[in-house]
Amino acid sequence: MGETVIPLADLRYAAPVPAIPANLSAPTGLLSDRLGRPLRDLRISVTDRCNFRCSYCMPKETFDRDYVFLPHASLLSFEEITRLARVFVGHGVQKIRLTGGEPLLRKGLESLVAQLSQLRTPDGEPLDLTLTTNGSVLARKAQALAAAGLKRLTVSLDALDDTVFRRMNDVDFPVAEVLAGIDAALAAGLGPVKVNMVVKRGTNDHEIVPMARHFRQHYDGKVVLRFIEYMDVGASNGWRMDEVLPSAQVLQRLQAEWPLEALDPTVVGETAERWRYADGGGEIGLISSVTQAFCRDCNRARLSTEGKLFMCLFATSGHDFRALLRQGRSDAEISAALGAVWAGREDRYSELRGAAPGQPGAGERRVEMHYIGG
Ligand code: SAM
Ligand code: SF4
Ligand code: SF4
Repeated sequence: MGETVIPLADLRYAAPVPAIPANLSAPTGLLSDRLGRPLRDLRISVTDRCNFRCSYCMPKETFDRDYVFLPHASLLSFEEITRLARVFVGHGVQKIRLTGGEPLLRKGLESLVAQLSQLRTPDGEPLDLTLTTNGSVLARKAQALAAAGLKRLTVSLDALDDTVFRRMNDVDFPVAEVLAGIDAALAAGLGPVKVNMVVKRGTNDHEIVPMARHFRQHYDGKVVLRFIEYMDVGASNGWRMDEVLPSAQVLQRLQAEWPLEALDPTVVGETAERWRYADGGGEIGLISSVTQAFCRDCNRARLSTEGKLFMCLFATSGHDFRALLRQGRSDAEISAALGAVWAGREDRYSELRGAAPGQPGAGERRVEMHYIGG
């Protein structure tokens, strides 16, 4: 009997094929998990590849020339992504974020944006469709993305100082090109642009105030800078608690320069705590995923590049929805399977870690950020 050869990449993370419930009742949009949380936000990783090697995400030592990325046939096609997205929207998803890896490296991404921008919620509303990018090729792509129906985007940028930034992306990429990408996005009507800065104590925390000053002064409130606590995602970034600068300290450093006022959240489950400069200089955000768990309202699911669905950024296993697509299952079957998977969800990693802080648990193979997206 011939042996079935399973490609290496497919063995990375356990992902059983979801069971199809006997009852294929239509989605109500009122799905909730075991902790009463609805499904509203879907993050889709469109590639596991990236042209940067940020040490907190894809450190060079692991992601070197020998690292095996997913083969093209493993990736969900744009049609498969759109079909799954439609099923998710039926269950209440209102927001879709494309991510990666570096999403703008996926060839023809505009055509996926165009397909997703046609989707409507059960109330007939368009989705909140966005993407997160390192900005490296944004100057070239912003116009086409906007024309395809993208409404806004987030750009990651960890420092204004060129030397610090080149060291953090670890491929010697200059700040100026990312700033040109942000300008191009604003010119294409993709504003306000969010800029994400991952803060690592001792690496770029001295850039907090210069970053805030730059985006306050030059963008007329059209850029919202968000400071992200360095997280213990995956297993390869060598995370240590002493490299996390708690958001409370970020806030103190900003308040020493400019008075800030707290703003109310705009939507339930919002990850960033919002603050406004009292002098009208715009808004900033603090994302405290390490020091202040926000699992209670977490309404996010994550679809990996190869169609495995993860219920939590820190999950150790997923659910293989690509298998359902490629087995020829109907939309009703896939929808019922998704309903059952979400109904069984009880993940709340950050909250549990908050109760017992320290080094992340050894022995468990947690999913990597570049594979599942941010
Ligand atoms: N390549 C794109 C980018 O960098 O924007 C999209 C994918 S990246 C995985 C998504 C977001 O996750 C980025 O804003 C990145 O800074 C953030 N990120 C990656 N690793 C992180 C970590 N260990 N802690 C906190 N944020 C992290
Ligand atoms: Fe690439 Fe984004 Fe990860 Fe940096 S954070 S290595 S840009 S995927
Ligand atoms: Fe959501 Fe998991 Fe993050 Fe908690 S730890 S906020 S459940 S993704």
